[in-house]
Amino acid sequence: MADEKELFIDEIMGMFIARFGDSVQGCWVYSDDLCPGCQVNDIGDFYIKGERQISINAYMYRNRGILIAYLLCGHCAMQVIANSSGKNLPIHETIEKTLGKAYERYLRSMNA
Ligand SMILES: [Zn+2]
Repeated sequence: MADEKELFIDEIMGMFIARFGDSVQGCWVYSDDLCPGCQVNDIGDFYIKGERQISINAYMYRNRGILIAYLLCGHCAMQVIANSSGKNLPIHETIEKTLGKAYERYLRSMNA
């Protein structure tokens, strides 16, 4: 299961890097167990019409030029999927703050 997810993430990251181009200096995968949207539920699979889904998203963390890939829990993923306006939802702000903090924490752990 973990391998399957990692392979898929590599593929998706390739697509995002193609989209964001040269501004991407690196990528990082948010790998905490808790969903960055609600910080309550575990990240995981969910089902739409009986089909297994994984919600993989990426956020461009411009402060560092890092593309952060992340997964959501089923509940948050449904919220994002149901939003067809294309505008950011309040949950996006939460996600972006959580990812930024997690990445800064990761950098500090690397320097320690
Ligand atoms: Zn969630």
